Amino acid sequence: MDVHDRKTRSKNMRAIRSKSTKLETSVKKVLETLSLKMVEHPKNIPGNPDYFVSSLNIAIFCHGCFWHAHECSLFKLPETQREFWAKKLRENTVRDLKAIRLLSFSEIRVLIIWECAIKGKEKLPAPLLPVLLSTWINGKYQIGIINSKGLANYNAPDEVICQTTKLLNTLR
Ligand SMILES: [Zn+2]
Repeated sequence: MDVHDRKTRSKNMRAIRSKSTKLETSVKKVLETLSLKMVEHPKNIPGNPDYFVSSLNIAIFCHGCFWHAHECSLFKLPETQREFWAKKLRENTVRDLKAIRLLSFSEIRVLIIWECAIKGKEKLPAPLLPVLLSTWINGKYQIGIINSKGLANYNAPDEVICQTTKLLNTLR
């Protein structure tokens, strides 16, 4: 049995959400290094992205692999209250899809950065996040994804634009 009742649990979840995650902090640092002015969680932009850079019209989401149900080694459905969690996480992913669609209609470019890019056994080597981020920013892809495999095009996720191994060779 889960010790938290529904009310406490959602209170806890809100508390967790209001703190910046490690991924958010890392991404913020990169944006600052690139001298990009950003707004955090702008209310007027669909999906309240973690960062919005108005000069480039780009929205960046830093997705926790659990909260956004990423198919990766960091995700595992909790053993207890499985139905609750399955429903909750499904709602989150539906909300994410809706946000991406609304942003695309507004011609805002979107980048989704997954937690597993910087955490877990498959994480990217540390110097790669800034490289991948600026590659996407300067590139032409409307919607990009950064995960533990590198940078990919959202509409063709198997097509990795910037492969980690290749990049590592150029950095050496
Ligand atoms: Zn992940």
